[in-house]
Amino acid sequence: MTSILNKLAFHNSFSSLDDVFFSWVKPQGLWGVRLAHANPEAAQLIGLSQQDLETDEFLQIFSGNQVPAAFAPLAMAYSGHQFGVYNPQLGDGRGLLLAEARPANSESAAPFWDIHLKGAGRTPYSRFGDGRAVLRSSIREYLGSEALFHLGVPSTRALALFASKEPVQRETEETGALLVRMSQSHVRFGSFEFFHYTRQPEKVKQLADYVIDKHHPDLPDDDSRYPLFLQRVVLATAELIAHWQTIGFTHGVMNTDNMSIIGETFDYGPYGFLDDYIPNFVCNHSDHQGRYAYDQQPGIGLWNLNALAHGLSTLIDTDDIKHALSLYEPHIRDCFATKTRAKLGLTTEEEDDVVLATGWLQLLQDERADYTRSYRALSHFSLTGDNSALRDQFVDRDSLDQWLLLYSKRLEREGSVDENRRSLMCANNPKYILRNYLAQKAIEAAEQDNDFSEVDRLLTLLKKPYDEQPEFEAYAAAPPESAKGLELSCSS
Ligand code: AMP
Ligand code: MG
Repeated sequence: MTSILNKLAFHNSFSSLDDVFFSWVKPQGLWGVRLAHANPEAAQLIGLSQQDLETDEFLQIFSGNQVPAAFAPLAMAYSGHQFGVYNPQLGDGRGLLLAEARPANSESAAPFWDIHLKGAGRTPYSRFGDGRAVLRSSIREYLGSEALFHLGVPSTRALALFASKEPVQRETEETGALLVRMSQSHVRFGSFEFFHYTRQPEKVKQLADYVIDKHHPDLPDDDSRYPLFLQRVVLATAELIAHWQTIGFTHGVMNTDNMSIIGETFDYGPYGFLDDYIPNFVCNHSDHQGRYAYDQQPGIGLWNLNALAHGLSTLIDTDDIKHALSLYEPHIRDCFATKTRAKLGLTTEEEDDVVLATGWLQLLQDERADYTRSYRALSHFSLTGDNSALRDQFVDRDSLDQWLLLYSKRLEREGSVDENRRSLMCANNPKYILRNYLAQKAIEAAEQDNDFSEVDRLLTLLKKPYDEQPEFEAYAAAPPESAKGLELSCSS
């Protein structure tokens, strides 16, 4: 049988940078490692098939047991602001960039994908950590990243999840796991901060050129590229966070080392989707101040961009930085407004739409209504027919009826047709999201019984979050009261 390596083409671009950018690290495999789940859709991006994922070769190579010559495993150097405080010493403490690959038969413009292995042991950046990842958090990242991607939100992807028998000590003893993550870049805001604060402006420049050449090849080849690059990061970040807000996603740890330079959702820790609409929802149980609460995310995005801009201040002058950052607020507002109009089924723009949208959200907040279910129920609103299914979801029907009156008038003004609006709205208001209690059930089955069938089921269903899937109806139900708004710990 031919090696699966023959199906891949490699170009390990990050490893060709100076060695201050990373440390070479050999992955340390796990005792009793086995494939728990693999994702054929992500595999396809690098030209691997379902059969390839089931081979022993895939297990050995992608779990870090064997390092083929074409790989160049390394841990990246970075720092960053954690909860507002600068931490000069971060870096990949338990993650390795194994290689950058694409299908062997690719067209020349096809992107290379970072193959990143999380949980493969200590690195020079591990500080006091063990370099491991536990099964629970690996399952959460595996499912969360795919859920967001299929909701249409930029995200890293998940290729494979490996379980093991290796004990890993957290609050209690757990078992180690490995996650293979894919992205076109693992450069973070904090990567720039590291070289800025260690006073290596030439390295800041080298890193900026690396990212620009790879991701923004259309930018000019002179110093004007740097402010333009910052503008693009500002816009991409604004768009990403507008996306999070519209689907009710809370990242949980928006430290600058968890902010992707290409604007993807990155590093899934104690994230959470809103159940009830509680704007100041905090999913991270260690976030006592609510710094990363759901409704703080837009502001934190700008804070983080400020930190990035500071890291780039040897390349970009102050006026250009101010200008780039000034693009953030109008852009996130516009993106949010556009997405909210689609969620409300509006195809035209009126000045008062923001009042209409705010009224709806206020209603959800007053009712503590389920964010996802309410929008989905509204998608089935009829201008002429029966709306009892929607009304049944609300206690304060008078307030709902008042708002529906305004909404109906607004819909009539644009000649909205029930059927057309319903398809627009159902394509923008997911029926299925990865609620914490659903992830929790999958984790328990995996931890207790080595049973990954629930992981598989969730992945299947979350691939089509906007479709009706009658066989999965129960997964669209409101969570049991006891399982709402779970907070999760950072320890992973
Ligand atoms: P995170 O909160 O997962 O984004 O991680 C923050 C920093 O801590 C990063 O530098 C990680 O590499 C490092 N880190 C987290 N967990 C571990 C661990 N178990 N062993 C070593 N380093 C870790
Ligand atoms: Mg991180």
